[in-house]
Amino acid sequence: MATIEHHGVPEGQVVVERFAEGQPHRGKVLAAVQAHADDIPFFCGGTVAKLIAEGYEAYLIQTTNDEKCGPTPSIGETVLSNERDVETLARVLGFKSVFNLGYRNHRLDGASPEELRARMIFLFRLLQVDTVFTFNPWGHGEENPDHTITGQAVEAACWMAAMDKDYPEHFAAGLKPKRVTQRYYWVAREGQPFNRVVDIGPWIEQKVAAISANKSQGPGGSQGSRLRAALAARGLRLPALDGSEEDADRAYIRLFQLDEYRALGEAYGLEYAEAFYYVGDRPSTRIEEYIRAHAVPLE
Ligand SMILES: [Zn+2]
Repeated sequence: MATIEHHGVPEGQVVVERFAEGQPHRGKVLAAVQAHADDIPFFCGGTVAKLIAEGYEAYLIQTTNDEKCGPTPSIGETVLSNERDVETLARVLGFKSVFNLGYRNHRLDGASPEELRARMIFLFRLLQVDTVFTFNPWGHGEENPDHTITGQAVEAACWMAAMDKDYPEHFAAGLKPKRVTQRYYWVAREGQPFNRVVDIGPWIEQKVAAISANKSQGPGGSQGSRLRAALAARGLRLPALDGSEEDADRAYIRLFQLDEYRALGEAYGLEYAEAFYYVGDRPSTRIEEYIRAHAVPLE
């Protein structure tokens, strides 16, 4: 489960990423890897919508089954209702499909790190992933082991998926090695670093819809309609929450849950923004530069 806290700490030269016309990312693939149903909506929903608009094909991978966070005492019903919420989340943001890895909620640190990493490597090769979104594997202040373990498995899989001797049976089955060259580590807790701010102004309604998809848990979802019902029981009404239940839920999110994205945007001259610690492709080495500058054709 995500909690809304502060954005992190800017580190070095912060890059502001704005919308790029002409679908420059056509042909590229991104995977957003979350531990829980409400992570992507809060941490990267606007940016994923932007990158899909710029041509990316996107896949959602979820590591846990969310069994601890839901509206009923039943663990089974909690898993099911979160699973349905994630299907809605994927649809409203434009993900092509969802992979539920199904590890037990709050217990990911008890799972085999090697199995989790191997499953990520398989998916990165299968989907030929260029870009990932996930937790900062070394982020400060993280209380939830599901978050840390998810980030660490993704980080290791990003380079290992490119090797040609790890899991040779993948190649026998027709998969190809694939190096993931871009990583966006979202800011989940106070004090975590960011070096990139993404303009999500044009996609703020998709972010609102993504937060609202989480009816089962978290600070999003059904808060608006629940507040309206609680006020009605006291003989009160908030006109801002009028309309259908979904209208009330989304109005509540616009009123009370976008403050930090607005504040971050304001600091960088934008309407709304999300922040990431971005790790791009490694710069070319001195040797490659030397060869480029000095190599001559064979006689
Ligand atoms: Zn979470």
